[in-house]
Amino acid sequence: MKKVLVTGGAGFVGSFLCDRLIDEGHEVIAIDNFFTGNKANLRQLQNNPNFELMRHDIVEPVLLEVDWIFNLACPASPVHYQYDPIKTAKTNVIGTLNMLGLAMRVNARILQASTSEVYGNPQVHPQPEGYFGHVNPIGLRSCYDEGKRVAETLTMDYHRQNQVDAKIVRIFNTYGPRMHPEDGRVVSNFIVAALKGEPVTIHGDGMQSRSFCYVTELVDALYRMMETDNYIGPVNTGNPDEFTMIELAEKVLEMTNSSSKLVKVQARPDDPERRRPDITLAKKRLGWEPKIKLEEGLKPTIDYFDDLLKRS
Ligand code: NAD
Ligand code: UDP
Repeated sequence: MKKVLVTGGAGFVGSFLCDRLIDEGHEVIAIDNFFTGNKANLRQLQNNPNFELMRHDIVEPVLLEVDWIFNLACPASPVHYQYDPIKTAKTNVIGTLNMLGLAMRVNARILQASTSEVYGNPQVHPQPEGYFGHVNPIGLRSCYDEGKRVAETLTMDYHRQNQVDAKIVRIFNTYGPRMHPEDGRVVSNFIVAALKGEPVTIHGDGMQSRSFCYVTELVDALYRMMETDNYIGPVNTGNPDEFTMIELAEKVLEMTNSSSKLVKVQARPDDPERRRPDITLAKKRLGWEPKIKLEEGLKPTIDYFDDLLKRS
C-alpha cells in the first residue's frame, strides 16, 4: 500500500485515477484548486477512509509525506488553458517545480502528466517519442504546449541533477464520462450539442484529425508506468485509431439519433492538423495497448451526458 498524491485529482482524468488507486488498495490524497475540476467527480470516494481531498493550488508549495506523486494539475481544454494563460504557464512551471521539489524532499516517485501537445503541429506522423515537435513559442496555445515542454525539461533535470525518481507520460486526447459539459473539448462539445439538438460546431474544414483514448484505459497506462521500475520515459499513451472531426461528428450524430446540423466555424489558431500516437514503446515497456474502440467508449460517455442533461 502506497501513500499517493494526485494533483488535479478533482478533474476528469484525476478523478478516474483516484478511483483506480483506491481500488488497488492505496491511500490517496487529491489536491485541486477547483478551476476546472469539481468535488462531484469524487463523490464516490467522499466517505472512503483511505481518501482525502484538499483545496490547494500547486503554484504554492505543499509538504506531504507521500510515496508516489501523479502531477496532473493543469487545465487541459484549450478554452480553459487560454482563459488565463499566465496562470497556465505558472501551473506548468512553478507548480511542476514545487512537485519535483516535494518528490526530492520526501524521496517520492513522481509521474509528470505531459501531452501530445509537445509535438505541436507535427510534421512527423504518427508521432514517436523521439520526435522533438513543431511548436509555436508565441501563440495562443504556447502557455500550455511550451509550459508542458518546460515541465518535461524540469522533470529530466531533477532526475539528472538530484536523482529524483521521475517519469514522463505524453497523454494523447482522452475522453469519457465526467468531462465537464462546458469543458470545450471536442468530444463533450459534440455530444452535448447533439443531445440538445443544437448545431455541432466544426472548427475549420473538419479534416483535422485526432486519436481518442477512453479514460479508464489511459488511467491503466498511468498506473502501469508508475509501477514500472527504472523507466523514465517519455512514453506516449493514446489510442492510435485516428478520426477526422467530421467523422467524429457524424458518429456522434448517429449514436445520439440527433438531427443537429454540422456548422463550420472559424478554425482555431495553431490548431494541429493531425495527431496519432506511435505506441510501440508503451506496448514494449508497459505491456499496454488500448482495446476500447471509439464507438464502444462513446456509448457510456453519451449516456453520462444524457443523464446529466436530464437532471439539470
Ligand atoms: P481537467 O481540466 O479536467 O483537470 C485538471 C485538474 O487540475 C482540474 O481539477 C483543475 O481544477 C486542476 N488544476 C488546474 N490548475 C491547478 C493548480 N494550479 N493547482 C491545483 N489544481 C489545479 O483536465 P484532464 O483532462 O483531467 O487533464 C489532466 C492532466 O492530463 C492535465 O495535466 C493535462 O494536461 C493532461 N492531459 C490530458 C489530456 C486529455 O485529453 N484529457 C491530454 C493530454 C494531457
Ligand atoms: N473542435 C471542433 N469543434 C469543437 C471543439 C473542438 O471542431 O466544438 C476541434 C478543434 O479545433 C481541434 C479538435 O476538435 O481540431 C480537438 O479539439 P480539443 O479542444 O478537443 O483538443 P486539442 O486536441 O485541440 O487540444
